[in-house]
Amino acid sequence: MGQVRTRVGAVFGDPIAHSLSPVMHNAAYAALKLDGVYLPFRVVASELPTAVRAIRALGLTGANVTLPHKFEAARLVDTLGAQARLLGAVNCIVNRPRGLFGDNTDARGLEFDLKRLGLSLKGKSALVVGAGGGGAAALLAVLKLGARRVALVNRTYQRALALARRFARGQVEALKLDALRDRVLLAEQSLVINATSVNATKQGFPPMAYAATAEDCFFYDLSYAAKPTAFLRPGLKLGRRGADGLGMLLYQGALAFELFNRVPAPVDVMRRALYQALGRPLDGDATGVRVRPPLP
Ligand code: NAP
Repeated sequence: MGQVRTRVGAVFGDPIAHSLSPVMHNAAYAALKLDGVYLPFRVVASELPTAVRAIRALGLTGANVTLPHKFEAARLVDTLGAQARLLGAVNCIVNRPRGLFGDNTDARGLEFDLKRLGLSLKGKSALVVGAGGGGAAALLAVLKLGARRVALVNRTYQRALALARRFARGQVEALKLDALRDRVLLAEQSLVINATSVNATKQGFPPMAYAATAEDCFFYDLSYAAKPTAFLRPGLKLGRRGADGLGMLLYQGALAFELFNRVPAPVDVMRRALYQALGRPLDGDATGVRVRPPLP
């Protein structure tokens, strides 16, 4: 009997049916003519340790880990990459000969996307709303891009404070949700990022002084949808630029594909697969950037 050569990757989450990761990874395997498959698994919290052990037992290339498992996964791997250690969260477990390596490609994915969008934050201020795993990744990304000051706003103030202290550079100020109505604070920002899990399509993002922002202020939403999200809509209506998190999803996935398979990821193929799955037309330019999605 011949050796099994098919590379098998996975994503663990709960819920998982909505995940676009399989579409993106399987399109990459097909484009590269690699014998590989990437499968979604609904894994409940109590079964996460068993699922993580199965990566080695079954010889998977690795597994992405999504909500609600990113923090727990960091405790279940053998070694951690620098960003996973800093964030205390893992979104990518790589099956290496010496053991399971936990990495976090979310911050790098966002950093790539913000660079692609042409944003320079050197010496500028940014505001991040949300202090969960996504908020932590966003904070790291904007600091890497050279932000001088970051306002970290969260519904649970203590969580923002704890996260700001982890970075301990004096550049990050934790604030309560009502800071979003502070017109002076909003006027200072070059970039406002939504890293909350507030529903992407319905209204529900907390009241914010959009109109006080500078004309060149950029709005970025970690969530994504077929149409502009509830967070992006008011900014776009004012003529501000904005983007949703499909680009971040793409780049964190491309980085994970490279970690799992040790080959360069076909990023354009993966982007097309994502846009198609969401029913969003590509812009027609080489990058597929939707810097300003059409208003509904
Ligand atoms: P999480 O760890 O559960 O954190 C959720 C955050 O949202 C917390 O800061 C929470 O505040 C806040 N929040 C929830 N409901 C709220 C409300 N009604 N009003 C105000 N704040 C509220 O989730 P996460 O992993 O950070 O993910 C956050 C979002 O980012 C999700 O939509 C996720 O899909 C997205 N994401 C996207 C990518 C990508 O590749 N595009 C990557 C990572 C995450 P409290 O602390 O007060 O509870």
